[in-house]
Amino acid sequence: MAMFDGPGTFDDSGTTVWLPGETAYETATRVFNLAAPARPAAAVTARTLDQIRAALGHARAEGLPVRVHSTGHAAAATGPMEGSLLIRTELEGDVEIDPRRRLARIPAGTRWGAVVAAAAPHGLAAPHGSSPTVGAVGYLLGGGLSPYGRQLGLAVNSVRAIELVTADGQLRRADASHDPDLFWALRGGGGGFGVVTAVEVELSEAAGVVTGSTSWAAEHAGPLLTRWLEWTLKAPREVTTSLRLMNLPPLPDVPPALVGSTLAVDGAILVPAGGDPAAAQRMADQMLEPLLATADPVMSTWALTSLSGALEAHMDPTDPVPFAGDHMLLSELDEDAVAEFLRLFGPGSGSPLIVAGLRQLGGAFAEPAPDGGALDHLDAPYCYAGSGVPFDAAAARALEEHRAKVRTALRPWDTGRTVPSFVESVTQPQRHLDALAVSRVDRVRTRVDPDGLFRGDIAPNATSLW
Ligand SMILES: Cc1cc2nc3c(=O)[nH]c(=O)nc-3n(C[C@H](O)[C@H](O)[C@H](O)COP(=O)(O)OP(=O)(O)OC[C@H]3O[C@@H](n4cnc5c(N)ncnc54)[C@H](O)[C@@H]3O)c2cc1C
Repeated sequence: MAMFDGPGTFDDSGTTVWLPGETAYETATRVFNLAAPARPAAAVTARTLDQIRAALGHARAEGLPVRVHSTGHAAAATGPMEGSLLIRTELEGDVEIDPRRRLARIPAGTRWGAVVAAAAPHGLAAPHGSSPTVGAVGYLLGGGLSPYGRQLGLAVNSVRAIELVTADGQLRRADASHDPDLFWALRGGGGGFGVVTAVEVELSEAAGVVTGSTSWAAEHAGPLLTRWLEWTLKAPREVTTSLRLMNLPPLPDVPPALVGSTLAVDGAILVPAGGDPAAAQRMADQMLEPLLATADPVMSTWALTSLSGALEAHMDPTDPVPFAGDHMLLSELDEDAVAEFLRLFGPGSGSPLIVAGLRQLGGAFAEPAPDGGALDHLDAPYCYAGSGVPFDAAAARALEEHRAKVRTALRPWDTGRTVPSFVESVTQPQRHLDALAVSRVDRVRTRVDPDGLFRGDIAPNATSLW
């Protein structure tokens, strides 16, 4: 490793390890969640396998633990990076689609928007989440709740292979026939195995998607929440929806009808190849019927769209924002739960959250996958997620206090379990694996990373080892 006069520290392969204060350090450490800046001792943007290997060599030489990220959407859910070397993965190459085998090969660093754009012209749907800017790797390693999830299951179940560089610099391919134990542990085991360079994901043949969002003034939240919960108990598995109470500020990207307190129900129904779009539209209509009978909406966008439509329905922010959130998997919600939900988030609640909602689980989400990984299904019927903007210290405090209030109030329905991709805070235990699974994952980690080079990258509380 030789030092040059210019910025950064170079090694023989041309890899540059950037230090705080250098522009490329700021690029490599960029995160989507601006409330959780990453400040490692040094940072690398890796585009090739050699660059990853060189970065690992540098970390060993300098005695730095290694951290990995792609987009920093989960920056608040990962431990502090001080004293580490951070590798940002932006592996070169495009998303490759094999239409015959219905497979997408996705280089690490790729966002779901690019995967959908590559797969859709082949009539193939990817198991993406609600946002086009989320990275495929972090989402899949953490389970992945897709708007097609009740139809297709947890997104991680569609992963067919994962390639990674481990602490010894070796490129390994983990799949059903190559190191199946590592393949099992990688899928939901909590990270810390190495630097993932690519994933292969099975796609679904699809003719289109019926998707959209309907919003009402929040004053109707009580009856709308009750009707939606009633519908979820008998909903067809083809439909996956979420219900959210929102308090949106008057920003240029926010449609005027959605400024202020509203309640939105959005979701998607994937129309299989050769399927009947009219039947999918009827399912959406049947879901909306009792809600529309309750009150007139202020906006509604449900329609048959191209396969990229389901990336827009949830209206997630696409530019980096500061946010602080919380998440729980909840059991069946009764009248008392509805009352608590309204007291915490409804009109007049004084909730500091921008959004608080429930994603509908069940269906294929609840079914273990044949040959699935450490996490392959979710037992709970609802996934709670709430998020606000800590724009100053007082707002951050208000969010923290509200979070504690929510946790106390929803305790009767809290299953104590989580979806790892939804955990928003480093202080929240990731309780999605049982003790047996945790010790099996630990054994795999000890085998592929005996010195614990990646130990800081393990999701908090997803292990008993370190
Ligand atoms: C606006 C928004 C919408 C979202 N919508 C959904 C949704 O619909 N469904 C859902 O399930 N989740 C959703 N999420 C959560 C999201 O899936 C997680 O935050 C996920 O971890 C993001 O992955 P990433 O790679 O983009 O993020 P990063 O923060 O870059 O990575 C998260 C973690 O993944 C690991 N990782 C990332 N890249 C690599 C790599 N190359 N090698 C090894 N490990 C790596 C690291 O442990 C890292 O800490 C959403 C988040 C946001 C902010």
